[in-house]
Amino acid sequence: MEEYYWYNSCPVCNQGRLIITNDITNDRLYLHCEECEMGWLNPGDADNNKNGFLTLLVEFETANPDLEFIKEKEWLSLAKYSFEE
Ligand SMILES: [Zn+2]
Repeated sequence: MEEYYWYNSCPVCNQGRLIITNDITNDRLYLHCEECEMGWLNPGDADNNKNGFLTLLVEFETANPDLEFIKEKEWLSLAKYSFEE
């Protein structure tokens, strides 16, 4: 079981959760929709449904960050919800 942290529902599909994901390749966090695979580098953009990108079209390695890592990257306030899977 792994803990996943997420921010809000996806503004594009309104179904998926925006999961905080570690983009290892570029050493940054982004929000990844589990349903439609859209991504946002910045929560404000996700809120306004702008500057989203289709993650499938971009080459990078990802990992599921733990809470400590999210805190380090100063995204703790975005980890509003979590689930185990
Ligand atoms: Zn979505």
